[in-house]
Amino acid sequence: MSANHDAIWSSCLKVIKDNIPLQAYKTWFEPIVPVRIENDVLTIQVPSHFFYEWLEEHYITLLKKVIKKELGTEGHLEYSIVMENSAGNSNPYTVKLPASNKKALKNAPVNMPINISDNPIKNPFIIPGLKKVNVDSNLNPAYSFENFVEGDCNRLARSAGYAVANKPGGTAFNPLLIYGGVGLGKTHLAHSIGIGIKNQSPNKTVLYVGSEKFAHQFIDALKNQTTNDFIHFYQMIDVLIIDDVQFFSGKEKTQDVFFHIFNHLHQNGKQIILTSDKPPVEMQGMEQRLLSRFKWGLSADLSTPDLETRIAIMEKKMYGNGIELPREVVEYLAYSINTNIREMEGALTSLLAQASLNKKAITLDLAKQMIDKFVKNTAREVSIDYIQKVVCDYFDLPIEMLKSKTRKREVVQARQISMYFSKKMTKSSLASIGAHCGGKDHATVLHACRTVMNLSETDKQFRVYLEDLEKKLTIQ
Ligand code: ADP
Ligand code: MG
Repeated sequence: MSANHDAIWSSCLKVIKDNIPLQAYKTWFEPIVPVRIENDVLTIQVPSHFFYEWLEEHYITLLKKVIKKELGTEGHLEYSIVMENSAGNSNPYTVKLPASNKKALKNAPVNMPINISDNPIKNPFIIPGLKKVNVDSNLNPAYSFENFVEGDCNRLARSAGYAVANKPGGTAFNPLLIYGGVGLGKTHLAHSIGIGIKNQSPNKTVLYVGSEKFAHQFIDALKNQTTNDFIHFYQMIDVLIIDDVQFFSGKEKTQDVFFHIFNHLHQNGKQIILTSDKPPVEMQGMEQRLLSRFKWGLSADLSTPDLETRIAIMEKKMYGNGIELPREVVEYLAYSINTNIREMEGALTSLLAQASLNKKAITLDLAKQMIDKFVKNTAREVSIDYIQKVVCDYFDLPIEMLKSKTRKREVVQARQISMYFSKKMTKSSLASIGAHCGGKDHATVLHACRTVMNLSETDKQFRVYLEDLEKKLTIQ
């Protein structure tokens, strides 16, 4: 065989290029360097052990074919793997591995013939650089399951998350995609799963990463020509949590690289957890093949928590931070800020700050002043809860009465007025308004609305009530 290794390898590459997608070619074949040819054995140098495994797993048939084509039936392939050792010093190790099939490699690592230039190491899986690296998981211990309050708004997502935490990679929820609006607990829940897994299996490599950070790391890798290191790093993770994947929209290259990482992890039974501000069907600018993978597992949404859950969340936060507040203040905060938990926490923090600054006790009045300022900036939409609260305050009734089955006249009236304003001022359906008012059906709500309108035409005092209430509800 007179041709040199470069020429032979470039003929191989021509065939390979025609047979696999361009992206795969770029990722897996461009980085390969032909090293030598000796006795019909072509040695190619690959950047890492992962790389070698990937080639063996996905391209061995193709590789064997092209080698036979170029070198004849006696032709063989040998890999030379370059690794940095894990201590970060740059002495590369070169490991030679014959092309083999993956099973042989996995089942009999100790017997595998390998030569290492300097120090001989018996088991390739303990070669420095192949050792499991210690990855900082980036998990926030405050975002645990214990601190995550369960409610109707998050039941499915939470229990799926819990199942995943107990059996990462071993449930049908892979990937687990948690989606929902801002400040509803996506990040918290994603961390909880990671923390749960780490608690049970400290040896698992769990990594939480924001999609923005992931994208920036990738861009840096492109700049520094370390894309392969980037890919290999992520392919080594056992549980990968990527927060806010909607950020990948329109970023084709990032999506491509994530697609490869996703496939590798998924194929190897590794767990993937994603969060997004919208469900896959509504994600614009996301490649179809990626979207279809997002749908492989489970997409579970987080919706706005109801009043009781909001109060419970506030109490949990206060307890966790050693804060005590009068119950009515907590309720008022939870009543008034109903779209977003982060905002509710923000209001709580501002309230505490105000109180300590002015050395004032935190009273309902202070809370009201503060909330009014706070909430006006965020264009609050009136909620059914808030309407009920205002109506009950106005008639001096406990809110539980409104939600009860009682037929007492003044309660029925307050309930009907709440339904009327809920219909008028919120986007809620009749059924949902009914559900909020003691489990009434939509016909009851409709009837209530008609009764209120009729009364407002015939009863002067009643009209005054409505006008007062409307003012209170609009000037928040
Ligand atoms: P997202 O990622 O959806 O924007 P976060 O996870 O950052 O929202 O949540 C915002 C805040 O609300 C966090 O401080 C989080 O702890 C809190 N939070 C959200 N849902 C819950 C819950 N069910 N129980 C306790 N705290 C919650
Ligand atoms: Mg978040």
